[in-house]
Amino acid sequence: MKKVLKWVGIILALIAVTAGTLFMLYVRPFLEAMKQTTTVQYDKDLTLMIGGGGNSGILVSDSLVLVIDTKMSDAAIMLHDKVKQLAGAKPIVVVNTHFHSDHTKGNKFYVGQTIIAGGNYTMENWIKQSGKEGVPTIWLKDRMDIKMGDDTATIINLGKNIHTESDVVVYLHKRKMLFAGDVILNKQAPALFGNADPDGYLDVFNWLQKNLDIQKVVPGHGEVGGIEVIEAFRQYFSDMKLAASDDSKKNELEEKYKDWRHIPIVMSTGSTIRAFKNKQKK
Ligand SMILES: [Zn+2]
Repeated sequence: MKKVLKWVGIILALIAVTAGTLFMLYVRPFLEAMKQTTTVQYDKDLTLMIGGGGNSGILVSDSLVLVIDTKMSDAAIMLHDKVKQLAGAKPIVVVNTHFHSDHTKGNKFYVGQTIIAGGNYTMENWIKQSGKEGVPTIWLKDRMDIKMGDDTATIINLGKNIHTESDVVVYLHKRKMLFAGDVILNKQAPALFGNADPDGYLDVFNWLQKNLDIQKVVPGHGEVGGIEVIEAFRQYFSDMKLAASDDSKKNELEEKYKDWRHIPIVMSTGSTIRAFKNKQKK
């Protein structure tokens, strides 16, 4: 008995050391990098705030201000200060691309304004993910157009399981710009939790390119870029799908994506391959 207890102790200690090392080596630097925020004045009416949680946009028109994703922690306060400054007395319309808290924690600063999110969530699930403050006031089932000066913003509920069960994107027609939320990331491995569906990503890349004329992509995380951001993320998912049915590819692909931001086991090539494997089993 004593011997068994000793071994259990050793194993638990090893697990604790491994978890601690993983945290120090990967999770902490990842979270630190996530906090960094850069503000870009894209044009006269459009401000982009990159980092500090999910990437955000602030689009100003004569009659209202559109805010895409509200960030978390200090960056949420920074974003809100900027929105207040730009909006003055104009009404604010917030769009949440999905319910993860790095995109929604700042909603609490917009209570009393319009907050739009995907209509496939239940209120209960929403509150579990992002709390009670600043819950959406409009649950978008399909799509909605908002005239923004000489541009039109179309808010689209993608309507199927992709990153979550109700991802929303915002497309600016004149700017040919897509705010993609976490459906598209730039050089970062995806977090596939809950209802995430890796095949949903592959479908949606096709749908976006077929239905929208996209030239600029604001991903959920990572730098703003062109259509190549979607292409690279599509390639990543195709590669991982292949690796899920061919184990010999795994090391080569790990090497190919080693510069992408990731956290081993939870947000990595390995976890994406696992997500495809789990689907194949179903
Ligand atoms: Zn997310």
